[in-house]
Amino acid sequence: MAPAMTASDTTSDALRTGDPQVAELITAEERRQAQTLKLIASENYVSAAVLEASGTVLTNKYSEGYTGRRYYEGQQVIDQIETLAIDRAKAVFGVEHANVQPYSGSPANLAVYLATVDPGDTVMGMSLPMGGHLTHGWSVSATGKWFRAVHYDVRKDTGRIDFDQVRETALAERPKLIFCGGTAIPRTIDFPAFAEIAKEVGAILVADIAHIAGLVAGGAHPSPVGHADIITTTTHKTLRGPRGAMILTGEEYAKPIDKAVFPGLQGGPHNHTTAGIAVALGEAARPEFRDYAQQVVTNAAVLADELKGRGFDLVSGGTDNHLILMDLTSKGVGGKPVAKHLDNAGLEANYNTVPFDPRKPFDPSGLRLGTAALTSRGMAEGEMREVARWLDEVVTAAAGDADALESTISRVRGEVSELTGRFPTPGLDG
Ligand SMILES: *Cc1c(COP(=O)(O)O)cnc(C)c1O
Repeated sequence: MAPAMTASDTTSDALRTGDPQVAELITAEERRQAQTLKLIASENYVSAAVLEASGTVLTNKYSEGYTGRRYYEGQQVIDQIETLAIDRAKAVFGVEHANVQPYSGSPANLAVYLATVDPGDTVMGMSLPMGGHLTHGWSVSATGKWFRAVHYDVRKDTGRIDFDQVRETALAERPKLIFCGGTAIPRTIDFPAFAEIAKEVGAILVADIAHIAGLVAGGAHPSPVGHADIITTTTHKTLRGPRGAMILTGEEYAKPIDKAVFPGLQGGPHNHTTAGIAVALGEAARPEFRDYAQQVVTNAAVLADELKGRGFDLVSGGTDNHLILMDLTSKGVGGKPVAKHLDNAGLEANYNTVPFDPRKPFDPSGLRLGTAALTSRGMAEGEMREVARWLDEVVTAAAGDADALESTISRVRGEVSELTGRFPTPGLDG
């Protein structure tokens, strides 16, 4: 059984005495994160250093504007912090310009629209149910309401992006912006292929690398630099920083992007987050980060192979990155009940649509998995085989009778506890 968490909890005496109610909830969440297997592809565990930088007096400071051009006094230190974050982003990704102020990935993408197109203009992105993101022009998003969005899909036979369709649609619709990247793409994104099409139709290519930024930084996925005109990314997924975002460009788009972020879209930047981003980028520049990125990919490949060996269908037949999209159709269960049962068993994942999903988006056929967070805990190939076995046992039990399901969940829960007890949680006790 897992050892109980002790004095390693990150809440301080100030919080425990100042607001015991919130302190207790934070401690409960720390325990939950330590004692479960985080398989959510968009999540990770930040280091103790990132966590500490993100929760500091920097939150007290207003600094609208940019270094040397602020609207408030007292920027002697903040300017240095933001400059550090920018310089590190430029070095890690090899770009000429970095804006580290976007509050998160969605506002970063909105800033790209504001900088480059006008309302009503045609834009193109991967459709949401195929693995795209809401902010790539999906109908329920502001980006789908304010722009004329057209979409591309994956091929039914391969589960991979249909570049014939990308090109035909781009030629027919002449979008001003083309987004590549997404939230459920298990395969390498072919940036040169997108760049060629964008060039042919005179579109600006935006690479949204929110999911894979850590793999790009660690050399485990090709970089979009030199292919995409503008790169957006969150900082909190595989990159393992605090919740935030960055926009990376060449000199050509530096000014319009900066103006779009502030004053176009935002007020004061979240300086405590900027400091956390700087720390995370410092970590991403170290050799160990390359090992982490490579292990994330190795772990996903092993997990995918194990699942296939157990008769699971994976979208595109496998993975090149940190992400696996399981299609549960042949198992006779939906992704939603399975995600719930797994959560009860201590394995945290999310239900997801699969391409051409016959079921409804809120009750889809897929389950999305990622290996970044487990890799950050130091788990490797052996642990992936255990995870595959537990996934198989819970999915199989989910298709059977309720009593057997309950006993499977409770047994797996115990086994998961035993495993998590052996791996420290970064930021909490490691
Ligand atoms: C996560 C994600 C976003 C949005 O990030 P938020 O910080 O949740 O707003 C945008 N694009 C892609 C591809 C993502 O995966």
